[in-house]
Amino acid sequence: MPEVDRVAASRTAVAARKARAAVKETVRSGHRSALDVAESAWRLADGTEARMRVAELLGTLRGLGPARVADVLERLQIAPVKRLGGLGKLQRTRLRTWLRARESVVGRGRLMVLAGPTAVGKGSVAGYIRDNYPEVLLSISVTTRAPRPGEHDGVHYYFVGDAEFDAMIARGDLLEWAVVHNASRYGTPRPPVEAALASGRSVLLEIDLRGARTVRESSPDAVLVFLQPPSWEELVRRLVGRGTESTEEQARRLETARIELAAQDEFDELVVNDDVRRAAQEVVDLLAVPGGGARPAGRAGSARKRDPAPSAHQAERERDTHG
Ligand code: 5GP
Repeated sequence: MPEVDRVAASRTAVAARKARAAVKETVRSGHRSALDVAESAWRLADGTEARMRVAELLGTLRGLGPARVADVLERLQIAPVKRLGGLGKLQRTRLRTWLRARESVVGRGRLMVLAGPTAVGKGSVAGYIRDNYPEVLLSISVTTRAPRPGEHDGVHYYFVGDAEFDAMIARGDLLEWAVVHNASRYGTPRPPVEAALASGRSVLLEIDLRGARTVRESSPDAVLVFLQPPSWEELVRRLVGRGTESTEEQARRLETARIELAAQDEFDELVVNDDVRRAAQEVVDLLAVPGGGARPAGRAGSARKRDPAPSAHQAERERDTHG
């Protein structure tokens, strides 16, 4: 190519990239919907929008990191390199439906449950979300157990006596409650959750398996996320390493963990807690996904696994080995 043409071509490419960046900015700032960009691409075959990659467009949406974008593209059966203008008829229909569904849920508060075996790091992931994603309300539970060193009333839990817990149940003030580890009672106060959802804020509940099941029954739209340890060995290491429980209490919690791991297929989404920040991001991303994994109650076995999960059998073997 003659030098002068090469320079002209490179200028054209730079201008096109700038134009696409400008379109993405309008979506990012909320001035234009992603659906509108897609529709323009399909109306005008040689426009800026048509040259934009689908992955680029999805990447501008709030809560969609690269991993979620790849996930969505796979679900829509669209190759990562595809440009909007190059989509086939069926792909356009699938993308249009997905974007419409997303637009209808964004702005409405969603209820999400984060459960998982003991010591998997639910508290750390939930705490990270509380500190870094103020748009999500982390519900503060009520418990009859005593505070651990460093725990504060109204921050980590509301610490109450048995009589007060009974009164809350009687008044219908608890969305769900359960006896955890055959020891203390824990419950989710209803009023703050309902107020947040009504105002459009999403709510995260960090609760045990039975609590998750109760929420599934009472709120079928809730998204149930199961936090997995990278392996059973790592779970044991985290539990023992924490050093906050007696040997007897540790054994009781491992028994609960074994039962809880076996229930992971009841959940909509599985997230591996290999890194607190990454896992928290993945959980928050799920709040922005249409359907967010929520499914009709009772449809077991459809949870999407990302990494190999430690199976209940593996847990069983370990338990036997460790007595
Ligand atoms: P910990 O005593 O270690 O703070 O918590 C023990 C367990 O209680 C954790 O598995 C936690 O998820 C669960 N839990 C905490 N709050 C609630 C709650 O409000 N409801 C239910 N069902 N479980 C809870």
